[in-house]
Amino acid sequence: MTAITAESLTRAAIKFPSAVLLPVLVLVTASIVIVYSADIPPAIGAPIPYLPYAIGLVGAIIGWRFNRGRLVYAMVAIVIGHWLLAGPARAVRPGSADQIGYLAYATLYPFGLAALSVLRERGLTTRHGMIRAASLLGLCIVVAAIAGANHWLIPEAARAIKGVTVSLLAFDFLPQAWESATPLTDLAAVAFVAGTIFFIARMFLHDHPPLDSGALGALLATGLALHFVGQGDTPATFFAAAALILMIAALQDGYRLAFVDELTGLPGRRALTMETAKLGQRYAIAMLDVDHFKKFNDTYGHDVGDQVLRMVASRMDRITGGGKPFRYGGEEFTALFAGKTRDEAFSHLDALRKSIEESGFVIRDKGRPKNKPESGKKPRKSANGAKTVSVTISIGVAERTERTPTPETVLKAADQALYRAKQAGRNRVST
Ligand code: GH3
Ligand code: MG
Ligand code: MG
Repeated sequence: MTAITAESLTRAAIKFPSAVLLPVLVLVTASIVIVYSADIPPAIGAPIPYLPYAIGLVGAIIGWRFNRGRLVYAMVAIVIGHWLLAGPARAVRPGSADQIGYLAYATLYPFGLAALSVLRERGLTTRHGMIRAASLLGLCIVVAAIAGANHWLIPEAARAIKGVTVSLLAFDFLPQAWESATPLTDLAAVAFVAGTIFFIARMFLHDHPPLDSGALGALLATGLALHFVGQGDTPATFFAAAALILMIAALQDGYRLAFVDELTGLPGRRALTMETAKLGQRYAIAMLDVDHFKKFNDTYGHDVGDQVLRMVASRMDRITGGGKPFRYGGEEFTALFAGKTRDEAFSHLDALRKSIEESGFVIRDKGRPKNKPESGKKPRKSANGAKTVSVTISIGVAERTERTPTPETVLKAADQALYRAKQAGRNRVST
């Protein structure tokens, strides 16, 4: 979680469409399948009741192979829900063992999904993973024990314990109009609405929107499955959609892990290699390097150095002229200008350089610095003891020419230009 700033909200708003696209697509497809289910040939429609099991299994295998325990638990939860609705809870008879399963599931699912998204990933076979698996299993055992109380208790006690459970879970407090609209209990309905708000909020405040929008999509799909209990293949279709959405979200997140730099959130070196392979005949590449960064680290500490890198990255993210920013490695960044010449890229790079120079980096006083800061980073003391130091970068830019016909050679030329910028006194763009 990051603090709520105008900047974090803007970033989230940019990521929002790409994060919600796939869940929406899956939900719409599932709805279309349901609406036209009468027209679907039996041979194609027949496997639908088995889809949640199949997708759940594939998702669980992916979760297991890639050490994503939370995906495995979510898949288990979805499969349990489908099993309940496809089997025991098909008709939801009041007071029956099946009803207790349905009621408990509908109430607990949103909380379980919220808990999974809040908890940190701890794998499957670790101690934390085992505790989580045991909690899930324990919950299932408690619900099954209550639902099947007549098998191990005297009839009166079984009736009593089931009666109390049903009246607690199906407690009425919403207006009648709502109650006749859905078989979901009031408690479950509130839990689903609260879950929806929770995940929407997380999408804006959290750094990994695909996981949150995926959880939201799965929550909505499961809510719809529970709402349409007993109506043909509709619950199965929505459970399949829920499992698929979570699986896709995990894959998207895996992609992010591989291509996005963890510290700055910018695409990393691997993404740069992928991107340069797509370049045409005309492009410019810029190499950027923070000035006197070693000194900065030595003076203020590595953590402050990391914050400087994040600040530089956030400025780079707003580079103009269609430049694409990457973290090349360490304190070096790359900007790619597809379809642009070196001279066209120049003014945008100089604007970026200026914006970083003018941004001023605030350091909260914690007894630092140990040494006197170097020139170019003169601290300006402010009233509360925090001081502002100026961070500058040097930039070298080159374009594709006959002598430098490949991205690798252009990059090398940009690096040489960067060296010249450093030689000429730093805080400048060189060609
Ligand atoms: P110049 O102006 O010539 O670029 O000087 P410089 O000190 O910036 O250049 P140099 O390449 O010698 O220093 C780079 C330093 O960047 C060395 C290393 O300690 C630091 N560094 C590299 N990666 C990271 C990182 O991820 N976080 C932090 N805090 N420091 C890093
Ligand atoms: Mg360097
Ligand atoms: Mg440097």
